[in-house]
Amino acid sequence: MHIAIIGNGVSGVTAARFIRKLSNHKITIISAESEHFYSRTALMYIYMGHMKQKDTQPYEGWFWKKNRIDLVFDYVNTVDTASKTLQMKSGEPIKYDKLIIASGSTPNKFGWPGQDLDGVGGLYSLQDLDRMEKYSDGLQRAVIVGGGLIGIEMAEMFHSRNIPVTFLVREKSYWDGVLPLKESEMINRHIKESHIDLRLQTELKEILSDENGRAKAIITNTGEKIDCGFVGLTAGVRPNIDFLKDSGIETERGILVNKFLETNIKDVYAIGDCAQAREPQAGRRPIEAIWYTGKMMGETLAYTICKKPVEYVPRLWFNSAKFLHIEYQVYGDVRSDGRTPENHHSLYWEHEDGRKAIRLVYEAESKTILGFNLMGIRYRHEVCEKWIKEKTHIEEVLANLSLANFDPEFYTVYEPELVRMYNLETGSNILSSGSRKPNDALKFIGIRPERFDYKHEAQPLPWYKERNGQLTALVMFALFATLILAYYFMKTMGLIFASPVIAAEVYFLIKLINNHDGGIINN
Ligand SMILES: Cc1cc2nc3c(=O)[nH]c(=O)nc-3n(C[C@H](O)[C@H](O)[C@H](O)COP(=O)(O)OP(=O)(O)OC[C@H]3O[C@@H](n4cnc5c(N)ncnc54)[C@H](O)[C@@H]3O)c2cc1C
Repeated sequence: MHIAIIGNGVSGVTAARFIRKLSNHKITIISAESEHFYSRTALMYIYMGHMKQKDTQPYEGWFWKKNRIDLVFDYVNTVDTASKTLQMKSGEPIKYDKLIIASGSTPNKFGWPGQDLDGVGGLYSLQDLDRMEKYSDGLQRAVIVGGGLIGIEMAEMFHSRNIPVTFLVREKSYWDGVLPLKESEMINRHIKESHIDLRLQTELKEILSDENGRAKAIITNTGEKIDCGFVGLTAGVRPNIDFLKDSGIETERGILVNKFLETNIKDVYAIGDCAQAREPQAGRRPIEAIWYTGKMMGETLAYTICKKPVEYVPRLWFNSAKFLHIEYQVYGDVRSDGRTPENHHSLYWEHEDGRKAIRLVYEAESKTILGFNLMGIRYRHEVCEKWIKEKTHIEEVLANLSLANFDPEFYTVYEPELVRMYNLETGSNILSSGSRKPNDALKFIGIRPERFDYKHEAQPLPWYKERNGQLTALVMFALFATLILAYYFMKTMGLIFASPVIAAEVYFLIKLINNHDGGIINN
């Protein structure tokens, strides 16, 4: 059976990897963006010089051949579901037995005058990154339109090269449709402290062109003109599905799928950013354009395709990001102020430096924990997930809260302050007795700590065992010593008497070579 996958992002590649683990089907992955899978979330680090593009590729070149996954670097123009054929932009048509569409997202454009000028672009693909790079040299100012996660990343990227940035955000406060107001205001302050020109409640009206068709300024909805040489469009993304227009595959905003990630057409599936659930789980959005969702969908679909059908059930909501210097994590049900139901209560603590905060959301009556929102402090995923899944009482969570803390050991611990606040607010007398030792956290989530003891953790390999795929220094030394010993025995005892000793030496040498750590790592 031939399985064709459109898109080599995390969703498509995860599906391919698991199909290969489970079967011998022929697999082809097609992408027009890049020959090899790379981590899209690391795009900003390439621009900022922290990583090279090849460092963002989780698998090396040999991985695809070894796992018999064919890669096609081309664009799928149309999908003919009747003849099960993909029409390609440059190559021969590709026939499939089953088709997985994992075509991801594309940046939104809202018909702004000038949106297609040179020097205007989003931040989604490697091509977008090339465009940013091309226009960065000598850039006097960039204007970024749209205050979400990608907007702030783009702002940080230009800022890292000392390019002045004006950041237009339509809302009253940064990302306040998602973040609770206090956290959103923390980020407003942090953006301004970083000398980024944040304009709240300001929208793009028009992009003006110079005589060569390049953006030279923008006009805002208040009529202000801001000169700039680059306009970043980061007002959200939408599923990348235009090429499916005449395919008969049913779409709304995204490709409509059932719980098995099947579309309305037999043998055609959709996963990741481009998939829209027909019946989303209560409290979840029909399209979840995040990394972990794509990964989970890819794995789940592989089982269904390999005749072990599994329904896709979203895991507990989790997201993480970085707003300039402030790390952000959310677990479970934490909503913006405007979307918070009456029965959701919050315990919110903020550090006096205004850069760290912990929010615990719990159900007012039952007092069961619903979610965690963390700014500048890291909590352990599994610990938070277990508390939420087990509907743990807020007081039990508070008493053991340090178990979740994932900051390095020498960092200050703030959990007792949260407990003190709760006691004051409710008249309770909870003691913050939790440990933050990794072993206790592992015991709590049910993993034997011995396995994770630091002595058993991966340590750097000693010099003679470096994983270079070559004979290591130790083996070379043993080979040399064996030859000398063999010569010595032959000289003193004669070949007949020396041969058992030589055979034993050769046997041990072969064993040493087989056991050494320099071989190819199976992945
Ligand atoms: C800058 C940035 C930062 C992000 N940071 C985070 C983060 O911190 N946390 C998080 O959870 N998520 C983050 N995301 C979102 C996350 O990267 C996406 O949810 C995820 O990559 C989607 O994976 P996917 O496999 O569904 O699609 P994609 O990764 O978009 O892959 C789809 C691929 O299919 C190709 N394709 C589409 N149509 C065709 C066609 N017709 N023919 C051939 N090829 C085609 C596309 O070119 C693309 O390469 C970020 C996204 C961006 C852009």
